[in-house]
Amino acid sequence: MKRFEDVVVVVTGASRGIGRAIAERFAHEGARVACVATSEANAAATAEATGGKAYGLDVSDTAAVETVFGQIEADFGKIDVLVNNAGMTRDTLALRMKEEDWDRVIDVNLKGTFNCSKAVLKGMMKARKGRIINISSVVGLHGAAGQVNYSASKAGLIGLTMSLAKEVGSRGITVNAVAPGFIETDMTAELTEEMRAHVIKTAPLGRLGEGADIAGVVAFLATEDAGYVTGQVLTVDGGLTL
Ligand code: NAP
Repeated sequence: MKRFEDVVVVVTGASRGIGRAIAERFAHEGARVACVATSEANAAATAEATGGKAYGLDVSDTAAVETVFGQIEADFGKIDVLVNNAGMTRDTLALRMKEEDWDRVIDVNLKGTFNCSKAVLKGMMKARKGRIINISSVVGLHGAAGQVNYSASKAGLIGLTMSLAKEVGSRGITVNAVAPGFIETDMTAELTEEMRAHVIKTAPLGRLGEGADIAGVVAFLATEDAGYVTGQVLTVDGGLTL
């Protein structure tokens, strides 16, 4: 039997990069996957690859989250696992950062995670089980010049993870965060060759990560084997921040 047979997983930011790898991993192990991106069209290829269903949604839009998650529950009958992976950057030095760059990144990365988590909680509490896995970042733990908005959003996710874990643990729901290092996706495509070389030289494992490196850890956190793990931040960075 596959690990996630009869398990319903929602992955936000599933159109590409880490989110797509996570959706594919869950589907490969038997899960039914709801694939969320900013538009249904963007999520369509992942939905096709996973045999799942595509949904379009801006995770920062509270009303839209309520509507779409209601639709997902109606389509699949339940939600067992939520992976809050949707995220974005608007990098620049703090002195040059516009208010709208701050607001947008916090809204999508942090409020979006709150919105989606809130939307699944009622069903999970009723079922007395559930898994919420938030994709933070090593930057949320260690900071990065040019990313005050992004790192604040990712650090905020860690506080959210710990607080929510305390709120819902008695209902059999675990809440954990994964903090990736540098993973090869569109988000890191703009890294200079110099930065790339630095990561490869500094990380004990000597390479950038791939989506599959994160997907395997996220999948583990959704298994019974991780049933006694909650409120934790798991760094997956090839040892870069050691
Ligand atoms: P990516 O390739 O840029 O993909 C971002 C995903 O998020 C896309 O599916 C995008 O959908 C979706 N998204 C963006 N804004 C959204 C919104 N407002 N509502 C709904 N969906 C939205 O990013 P990635 O590198 O795979 O990163 C995935 C997650 O890992 C992010 O949270 C990121 O912060 C985190 N992370 C990445 C790295 C890394 O090195 N790559 C490191 C640490 C943490 P569309 O396709 O529709 O735009």
